[in-house]
Order: sequence, then structure tokens, then C-alpha cells
Amino acid sequence: MDFTCSKYQELLQVLVSKGYVFKTVSEYPHDINQSTIYLRHDVDDLKMHSLAFARIQHKLGVKGTYYFRMVPESFDEKVILEIAQLGHEVGYHYEDMDFANGDADQAIKLFEKHLAQLRALVTVTSICMHGSPRSKFDNKDVWKKYDYKKYGIKIEPYFDIDFNQMFYLTDTGRCWDGFKYSVRDKIITNKIWPVYSNTNQIISAIHQNTFPSNAMFNFHPQRWTDDKSLWLAELFKQSIKNLIKKYFFVKK
Ligand SMILES: [Zn+2]
Repeated sequence: MDFTCSKYQELLQVLVSKGYVFKTVSEYPHDINQSTIYLRHDVDDLKMHSLAFARIQHKLGVKGTYYFRMVPESFDEKVILEIAQLGHEVGYHYEDMDFANGDADQAIKLFEKHLAQLRALVTVTSICMHGSPRSKFDNKDVWKKYDYKKYGIKIEPYFDIDFNQMFYLTDTGRCWDGFKYSVRDKIITNKIWPVYSNTNQIISAIHQNTFPSNAMFNFHPQRWTDDKSLWLAELFKQSIKNLIKKYFFVKK
């Protein structure tokens, strides 16, 4: 079975065995000659799954970045503090344009408030937009009027990372090639990167040294589970979602 905690652990183990260095998003940019991995996690839902990921990483001696939303299924002081104590980075997964109904002036006020709430717990130098496919707003649009660098934020991956030099993979749709149908999770790259449809393909590419030397993985830990009924429920949900997305893409 794919998208289980054991498959996740296997993926990390092979990266570690090949000598990849693990960086947090705020540590970008890195020495391009050193094979480097960024483990980015969007804590959209089921925060305990993210905590499980953070513990697995800690056991393997690696670190990643976890972006928390302000909603109860994500924001949890205990979870945030434990993840930070395990040596990981915590960032803000902002959706303030959605909260403010597309009003940038309102959104920036909410952003300031939410950033302060998170900073009351941990140091925050990275933010990343949350893209809800059902929303008509793009949360990044607040930065057409305002500047996050003025808030001591170093990196917003969608703006600050050069994806011509960094391979980007996302588990959107609980597969590794669902980016084609993603409405919001779009990165800008001119490069032709490899396409993998499942985690086993990624693991064999790493084994065979054909996997790119610099990569950012974007995980949604709520999609990964060892619990069989949860796993099937997620499969069902994602199959429906992917069908709808494909339908609209064909229509466009
Ligand atoms: Zn998100």
C-alpha cells in the first residue's frame, strides 16, 4: 500500500542512505552542489498525522517545515510546540484573503494577528499560502498590495524558490502526478522534470541515482495513514475530487 506511514519512512530512509542533506525552508538557498531535500508539510487537516510525520523524521535524524493554518483541525499549541521541540521549522499556512472575502486591507490585518498568534509559540520566518480549490480567491494576492518581507518573513516558497533548480513534488490528490489537475498548487518552472506516479517509483529512482539532486517534497500528512478504513475513505474522497478536476480541465 502507498501513502502509509511505513511507505513514508521507507522514502526518508532511502534519501538518508544516499547522503541527501535535509534543510528547512527558511534555510533556503543552499549550496547547489550538495544534494539537498526540503520536506514541506501543509498541515491542512488531521494535525496528529503531521505530528506522526515529525516524530518519524526525528527518529531518522532529519528535519522539515510544517505550515499551520488557523483552523482547529490544524492549529494546536501542543502539536506546534512538540513539532518545534523535535527540531523542525514551523511556518504559517496563510489563507487570509479567503477569511477576508478577497479584501486585501482586511486580509493583512488578519495576517498580522495570526502571525502574532503563531509567534507567541515559536519563531516564524517562513509562510506558505493555503490553496483551497473551492475558493474563488488566491491567497497570494494579498502580496500584490503588501510585502511579507516587512514582517520578518524570509521565504514564501511560491515566490522565493527557484524551481528551475529545485525539483518540486506534491502529493496533491494522493498521487505524485496530480499537479496537472491542481488549481492552486502551481509553481513556475521552464525545466522538464521527471514524473512519478507512486512512491515506489520515487524510491527506485533514488536507488538508481536518477532522482534530481535538489528537491522539495510537499506533503499533506492527512492523506497518509496506516489505518485501513481511513486510507480507503481518503482514496474514495480523492478519486471523486480528481474526477471532478479532470472534468473541469477537459471542459476548459
Ligand atoms: Zn493547504
